[in-house]
Amino acid sequence: MKRKTLVNIMLLMMTVILMAGCASNGTGNTSNNAATPKTDNKPADNGGKGKEQVVNVYTARHYDVDSVLFEAFTKQTGIKVNEVKGTAEELVERLKREGASSEADLFITVDGGVLNYAKQNAVLQPLQSAAIDKNVPKQLRDKDNNWVGIATRARVIVYAKDRVKPEQLSTYEDLAGEKWKGKVLVRSSSSLYNQSLVASFIELNGEQKAEEWSKGIVANLARKPEGGDRDQAKAIAAKVGDVAIMNTYYVGQMLASKDAEEVKVAQNIGVFFPNQSTTGTHLNISGAGLTKHAKNKDNAIKLVEFITGKEGQTILTQGSFEFPVNETADKPELLKSWGTFKTQQLDFSKLGDHNKKSIEILNKAGWK
Ligand code: FE
Repeated sequence: MKRKTLVNIMLLMMTVILMAGCASNGTGNTSNNAATPKTDNKPADNGGKGKEQVVNVYTARHYDVDSVLFEAFTKQTGIKVNEVKGTAEELVERLKREGASSEADLFITVDGGVLNYAKQNAVLQPLQSAAIDKNVPKQLRDKDNNWVGIATRARVIVYAKDRVKPEQLSTYEDLAGEKWKGKVLVRSSSSLYNQSLVASFIELNGEQKAEEWSKGIVANLARKPEGGDRDQAKAIAAKVGDVAIMNTYYVGQMLASKDAEEVKVAQNIGVFFPNQSTTGTHLNISGAGLTKHAKNKDNAIKLVEFITGKEGQTILTQGSFEFPVNETADKPELLKSWGTFKTQQLDFSKLGDHNKKSIEILNKAGWK
């Protein structure tokens, strides 16, 4: 008897809920009834503002593949991705300035130091997701979950295949030695890539060694630093120098380029992963953090889950030639051909901790 009463009560409750649902969807009246469920995705009848699902991203990345990635996410989830681009510093400043009124849900950038800078400036909040924890190894996530890695990038030595044998190469330190005088190409010290490289040396070898290395590189330069990483490869092709320091993914992007000249340049350079029997190749990270005042938190988390999932990671690595953080990604053949390599073992946040000192050292060394 008791059970029957309970069932009857439940049935009655369900009927009431169903009727309430019909009423709030069907009447089209303009009152903001608090009982109206917030779960439907239908646009509201009034105002035309609608309930479009969005996620607003502040991004400092500059790779074409990111929009492809966002489009794939929208296609799968119906959530629109709005991008605001800027330098990482600009975007962190903007997040600070906007405070609670910020529209940003997600902050995406390259460089572990910058991700940590955003964390220290309290513009991020912990991002909790079992799917993300499964997608991304612990060492590629912030310990407080303020950011999560979406790709890694290696800064390596590339060389002229016709003039340099890989056997002649060994370490970053070796590039600063007498034998490479007038042969080294590298971009300016204003590049975060170089600043973080030197920051890694400060962490691994100490300030003194980092300074000696910077001076050695400056003494060996084939020309005054100019252009980006791709321009160093082009300068190798033009025989301005024989070796260059650059990120691996640019080699992939050049090989896949529509510009025949870039393809040719990339075909004639070899990629060498330095310091394999010592401290490892310099690795940096690109990552995403949930902003402190995210209004579309669930959508932001869904986007990071997508980016770090198998499909997202495959799109990313196939398009940018960065290394995926999720090993299930289908990597481009080029990356597979490089195999595995030893990487520097250090906390990515250290790259930020030593950034100021690194710039000081680079300036002192006369690295333009
Ligand atoms: Fe880049």
